[in-house]
Amino acid sequence: VHCCTSTGCQASQSVDVKKQLDAAIKTHNLDDTVEAVGVGCMGFCGQGPMVEVEDAEAPSEKKHYQKVTPEQADSIIGSLNGSGEADAIQGDPNHPFFSRQLLIVREHSGRIDPERIDEYLAVGGYQALHHALYEMTPAEVVQDITQSGLRGRGGAGYPTGLKWATVAKMPPGQKYIICNADEGDPGAFMDRSVLESDPHRILEGMAIAGYAVGATQGYIYVRAEYPLAITRLQKAIQQAKRKHCLGAQIFDSPVDFSVEIRVGAGAFVCGEETALIASVEGGRGNPRPRPPYPAVSGLHGCPTLINNVETLGNIAPIIRNGAEWFAGIGTERSKGTKIFSLTGKIRNNGLIEVPMGITLREIVEEMGGGVPGGNSVKAIQTGGPSGGCIPDRELDTPVDYDSLRDLGSMMGSGGMVVMDDDTSMVQVAQFYMEFCRGETCGKCIPCRAGTVQMYQLLTKLLDEKATKRDLDRLKELCGMVQATSLCGLGQTAPNPVLSTLHYFEQEYLDLLQPDP
Ligand code: SF4
Repeated sequence: VHCCTSTGCQASQSVDVKKQLDAAIKTHNLDDTVEAVGVGCMGFCGQGPMVEVEDAEAPSEKKHYQKVTPEQADSIIGSLNGSGEADAIQGDPNHPFFSRQLLIVREHSGRIDPERIDEYLAVGGYQALHHALYEMTPAEVVQDITQSGLRGRGGAGYPTGLKWATVAKMPPGQKYIICNADEGDPGAFMDRSVLESDPHRILEGMAIAGYAVGATQGYIYVRAEYPLAITRLQKAIQQAKRKHCLGAQIFDSPVDFSVEIRVGAGAFVCGEETALIASVEGGRGNPRPRPPYPAVSGLHGCPTLINNVETLGNIAPIIRNGAEWFAGIGTERSKGTKIFSLTGKIRNNGLIEVPMGITLREIVEEMGGGVPGGNSVKAIQTGGPSGGCIPDRELDTPVDYDSLRDLGSMMGSGGMVVMDDDTSMVQVAQFYMEFCRGETCGKCIPCRAGTVQMYQLLTKLLDEKATKRDLDRLKELCGMVQATSLCGLGQTAPNPVLSTLHYFEQEYLDLLQPDP
């Protein structure tokens, strides 16, 4: 009996549900045949706490229970020996929310106890690392990642293999791997869920990366707002060391690789690579101009490979199943799957992992079940504060890096917020600009002053005090901030304004007042 104990379900009492499941197993004298296991996220977060019952002898015959209260735990366990009835809270494990997913990074999420390395080992964990160490050269590992077509899942979609090859080619010496777990987009919780649900998968990906590029030290930069992820990572690192999956001479090979955690202090800009490096070094998390790129001169001036959580989560399956297998999933230029946190005005919200190329319509209407309350979809925001709003007429667009960029948005790290026809798109633009205004590090003037001015102009519009001249100034500022800001935060901050102006300009025009 799997009971989700990730942050989302814990917020709705899943720890108590797990305790009551344990108690009910005793009460019903089922200790010998039934075990309640605290697992990671099953994805259907809006329906939590989630409980899944799986028959070890018929694993495909699962039963799902949703919004389970501690009081209902007894009826779930009772239904196993015919002494209880829990049909009222039973969900459909074959619902499109689940059946349309393709799980690669999340294949073990919600299936294993993230705090027990033995469970990860039992499902083939660390076999990819063993295979890489004993049957592949570092160059072959880099080649596999390159040929798989994997692109960075943190936002920009840079080819992962190219990044690895750049670090690998740097002269031998101290090199570092950093896992960027500084997930900060509003509405995004993919990385948190992966870390809470399957931390060993990320450690394994980092160790393989370390072997491939010649790095012996890794850091996971994780935000302080993710305490459960930090705790589970700490446990996972200790367990992996004890089992010789990390540390000195991994699996008796000559390879050493250690991992430490660095906890961020809550600045969104620290998700930017150079700011993140400054923060790991103990300094203020300010971005610096590039080049030099971190792959050449990163942490402490050494070559540094930075990959985000989801990118690293793809490494072990690629090594295990081969580059060709991965390259066969997705579209021509966007391979594999992508995890999205599906939120906003949508019936089924939670975490989904879908093959690249699936359409927005399939995600929103089939998996998400559409908009509740009789309203319809107006727009979908992807990419967080750096992304944009895609109107409903583009719902048949395939989800891949290039198609979303062509629409003025971006894949980003995977936030997907659905808006219905009651939503004011000018308010949406103001919300994201308020976020950027608060998160600008202040190092360069266009971003520091520009985000404030754009926020003020959007507020003036919403207060119905703005004129055409204000709107022209807003457009001018968007271009200026985009073109002259130092880092990605400033360069992309105008995107939500630009995309809403592009697709919903009439909403801006309707708010304008005549020139005095
Ligand atoms: Fe800081 Fe913004 Fe400049 Fe980036 S663009 S360095 S966040 S002020």
